[in-house]
Amino acid sequence: MPRRIRPPSRYTVWIARPGRSPLTWQVSALVPALLLLLLLLWGGTTLYLAHTARRSEALKAQVAALSDQVRALSQQLTDKESENQALARRAAEMLDRLDALEKDLGALKKRAGLKETGEKKAPSRAPVGAGRPADTEELFAAVDARLKALQGELSGRVEPALFRTLAREAATPRGYPLWVPTYIASGFGVRKNPFGRGYEFHNGVDLPAWYGTRIHATAPGRVVAVGWSRIFGRYVKIDHGYGYQTLYGHMSRIAVRRGQYVKRGQVVGYVGSTGRSTGPHVHYSVFVNRRAVDPRPFLGLRYASR
Ligand SMILES: [Zn+2]
Repeated sequence: MPRRIRPPSRYTVWIARPGRSPLTWQVSALVPALLLLLLLLWGGTTLYLAHTARRSEALKAQVAALSDQVRALSQQLTDKESENQALARRAAEMLDRLDALEKDLGALKKRAGLKETGEKKAPSRAPVGAGRPADTEELFAAVDARLKALQGELSGRVEPALFRTLAREAATPRGYPLWVPTYIASGFGVRKNPFGRGYEFHNGVDLPAWYGTRIHATAPGRVVAVGWSRIFGRYVKIDHGYGYQTLYGHMSRIAVRRGQYVKRGQVVGYVGSTGRSTGPHVHYSVFVNRRAVDPRPFLGLRYASR
């Protein structure tokens, strides 16, 4: 078994000096150990401090990068918010325009003879300016829904009704069959028989004019009768559709054929005094569903009756 070497308890520091006796110190064995320890401590501290400095630099850089990111994000957020608010404003503008459209549609409905339905429309307005995405999305959804509803109503209900109304209006007799000043010499209804005793029913109005004055159709339609009658003399009857018919009598000459389509205002004949007549005039009758009605409401106000 090898002998254990005991560490010396003391050391001798020996410094050689040429030409002179060397310097010697007796020191405790602890001194070099202490020196070594101090050296180690110093080195460790230096290393630790250097490391800490490096870490702190890295941290600082990280913080700077992070704060840059935060700044960029908050800028993006601000941009998004203002973009969102701009969108919300646009949605609000669209809702305003929709309101105007709905008003127009209301007028159109009235024109088409449609009654307003009692249905309440869903509240279309959301608070504007909050700028949160949900609000804007809701606004656009509302705009979209109302647009679809408007489109549906316009094409499904208003347009057909409008076409029907306009077609009926186009077929409705309007104005005088004479385009020269005239007056109602004899009105619609029961009157004294101008040719004898008693009373008779007069199923139209008598409008005097010069012999040969042009007689115009008061609405477009098809000529359904052209001929001679003991009462109306030479006459023309036009069917306008929608239950409307007109008759023009006492003509001196007829200008259309049976089955012919005529436009509103087209000349159908000329004033005469044929049939039961006391002087040149046109007898004008309006029929609604084959029943003679007073033509006055159809004449308008162009020539007031005397
Ligand atoms: Zn008459």
